[in-house]
Amino acid sequence: MTCESPKVFLVGAGPGSPGLLTLRAAEVLGQADLVLYDQLVPRRLLDFARPTAETICVRDLPGHHPDKYPHIHNLLIERARAGQTVVRLKGGDPLIFGRGGEEAEALRKAGIAYEIVPGVTAALAAGAYLDVPLTHRNFASAVALVTGHELPHKPGNPLDWKALAAFPGTLCIYMGVAKLPVIVAELVKHGKSPDTPACIVERASTGDQRTIHSRLADLEEARRNAGLEAPGLIVIGEAVSHRPAHSWWESRPLFGQRVLVTRPAHQAEDMVRKLEQLGAVVYRLPAVEIRDPANFAPLDAALNEKWDWIVFTSANGVHALMRRIEALGRDLRALGSVKLAAIGPRTAAALREYHLTADLVPDTFNSEGLVAALKSAASRQRVLLARANRGRELLKEELSKVAEVHQVVVYEQIDAVEPDADALNHLRRGEIRYVTLTSSKIAENLLKLFDETMKGRVERGEIELVAISPETGRAIRALGFKVAAEATAFTSDGLIDAVLRLAAK
Ligand code: SAH
Repeated sequence: MTCESPKVFLVGAGPGSPGLLTLRAAEVLGQADLVLYDQLVPRRLLDFARPTAETICVRDLPGHHPDKYPHIHNLLIERARAGQTVVRLKGGDPLIFGRGGEEAEALRKAGIAYEIVPGVTAALAAGAYLDVPLTHRNFASAVALVTGHELPHKPGNPLDWKALAAFPGTLCIYMGVAKLPVIVAELVKHGKSPDTPACIVERASTGDQRTIHSRLADLEEARRNAGLEAPGLIVIGEAVSHRPAHSWWESRPLFGQRVLVTRPAHQAEDMVRKLEQLGAVVYRLPAVEIRDPANFAPLDAALNEKWDWIVFTSANGVHALMRRIEALGRDLRALGSVKLAAIGPRTAAALREYHLTADLVPDTFNSEGLVAALKSAASRQRVLLARANRGRELLKEELSKVAEVHQVVVYEQIDAVEPDADALNHLRRGEIRYVTLTSSKIAENLLKLFDETMKGRVERGEIELVAISPETGRAIRALGFKVAAEATAFTSDGLIDAVLRLAAK
């Protein structure tokens, strides 16, 4: 074994919820040049990798076959030798039915340094998210992690069903759903009571979690009735009966609800996380993207001049200007004692993140309101409008009548909806209930892609459009759509509250 720093990380991704990724896993994902992930790993977890990282699903590797692994080993070795940092991302824990051991061995043989990052294995996630104590002082003194993949007549290392039937605790059977009748028959044949409490859970820890409970002998029938398919985890033992009817997780207010987030990708994470924590299944479809201006020279020049006012018409504008000040190696003093105007509370809140208080926020949060307020406040003064590459000209035109106005592009906004995006198909099929819209432009970009089917769903309330502000609400109505709810606080938290109110109806 070499003592070089590791090139390959065998990483457990946990059961699916991004919050259950370990800090170490998130850290190494952020360093990876290549992420080679298993099919069961939710795509969502790839958000922790750099946008430039290459990501490959092992299923898509040429020559992939679930029982033949050398091509994965070869790829790991080849890329590590080429100097890349490689994360091999596996569901749950890499060493629990994950073949992590075989990969580690191949790396050792090839003399490649590696690190193993454990993950929350499915059984532990099931315990927590189903509210089932896997061990208990009175009735479960052990837990067994068992593969249900091995057939009883398989030569070599068949499961000892007699021992499993007599096991004094909770059996967690992985990969067993397809073989359920055999598993139940073997356990009962070897003495396990047919009345033993049991359950099957799929996608434990996600908003998609589904569970069925029954006595052991009826488990297959219950599974069939519920239409539950593999993959799932089978949990058998007294522990299963010591649970509430609905686990804490299944009682979350948005559990199982499908919500679309349309904010620009780099701004969506916080909102996505909060929705996920509330139990929602979150889809993302950035309807606009924000990027640096093609040319910073006008902004840099403006930052060297003296202004009486800087006017911000969006939170993005605030963040973009601050990013530039920092990139120039300067700090907040670059703004001097300039007065700051914000078009509305969200923009003012963005200023507060930098410990700046807006000197002016109009009563009406739009360009007209801002013009009205600034016309007296900034009369005959030098005003810098920090704005996007596109937007209304009203501010510049009207203010120029009373003040010396200069406008500068601090960020560019580009339309970003892919007309063939997956989320649109989910909307069309009625699989997403709540569509959150965080600006008029976002509403416009998304809703112009709505076909008759989707429009019908909005009309019937099967898709509910939720606006971040009355202004966005107006834009949605102007496009001919019904608004299900408007946020009362014009922030993403306010928007989430509006979704919660709808879901509670
Ligand atoms: N290394 C993984 C297991 C891989 S085997 C781990 O430690 O969890 C794949 C099996 O894991 C599936 O057939 C299923 O039985 C189980 N599994 C993985 N994630 C699961 C989840 N979120 N919910 C329920 N079962 C899960």
